[in-house]
Amino acid sequence: MATVDLDSVKKRFGTTEVLHGITTSIEDGEFIVIVGPSGCGKSTLLRMVAGLESVSSGEIRIGDKRVNEVEPMDRDIAMVFQNYALYPHMSVRQNMGYGLKIAGLSKEKIESKVQEAAKLLQLGEYLDRRPKQLSGGQRQRVAMGRAIVRQPSVFLFDEPLSNLDAKLRVQMRVEIKELQYKLGITSLYVTHDQVEAMTMADRMIVMNAGVAEQIGSPLDVYEKPDTLFAAQFIGSPS
Ligand code: ADP
Ligand code: MG
Repeated sequence: MATVDLDSVKKRFGTTEVLHGITTSIEDGEFIVIVGPSGCGKSTLLRMVAGLESVSSGEIRIGDKRVNEVEPMDRDIAMVFQNYALYPHMSVRQNMGYGLKIAGLSKEKIESKVQEAAKLLQLGEYLDRRPKQLSGGQRQRVAMGRAIVRQPSVFLFDEPLSNLDAKLRVQMRVEIKELQYKLGITSLYVTHDQVEAMTMADRMIVMNAGVAEQIGSPLDVYEKPDTLFAAQFIGSPS
C-alpha cells in the first residue's frame, strides 16, 4: 500500500534540464499512465521514482519516505521493462524466484510465492520451461511474475509491451489491468502509445519536453484538453 508524491520534480543532466518541475499526488492503488513522445522524459521520471536517478530539485515521496533516503534493497518497488531480459539458462521457476533467493528467503517460501504468482499469471504449467520455450506474451508474464513475487507496494512499467506484436499488445493491456484490479498495487506505467494510455489509465500524465501538459482522467484529457499539445497528441477534435 503506497501513495507516490511528486513535488516540483526537476532533473538536469549536466547543464541541460530535461524535467522542468513535475507535481502530482498518486493515490494508493491508482494506475497512472505517463504518456508522451520519445525523449520527453518519461523514463527519466520513472527511474527517479525507482531511486535509480537522483532528483536534481524537488522531492519524490513513496508513502512518507523520500525515495533517496531509502536503501535500494529496502525500496518496496518493482520495475518491468521493455527489454525484460530473463535469464536464458534458468527455468521459469528460477527466473521468478531469483530475486527472493538473493533476498535470502527459504526454498519453501520462494516456491510458495512463485506458485502463487504463477497461478495469477496462468504460468503454472510452464514453471519448468526455459525462456526460449515460451511465447513473447508468456515471457512478458514471467517478467511480471518476477516483479509480483516480491509483493511490492509500487509497480513501475517502462513501455513493457513495445516489443510485442499488435495483437498480443492489446491482450497484454487487458491482462495487466486485470492484475491491477486483483492486486490493487499503485502503478506508474510509461508508454508513448496514446491508445494504450487512454485504455489503461485511471489518470494520465500527458508529457511534452519535460513538462506535464495535463494530468487527468482519459475522459478529461479527451474532452477538455488543457493545451494544444494535449489536444493534438491525444487526438481530440478540438
Ligand atoms: P523518454 O523515456 O520519454 O523517451 P528519456 O527520459 O529517456 O525520455 O529522456 C529524456 C531526455 O533526457 C532526452 O533528451 C535524453 O536524451 C536525456 N537523457 C536521458 N538520460 C540521460 C543521461 N543519462 N545523460 C544525459 N541525458 C540523458
Ligand atoms: Mg523511455
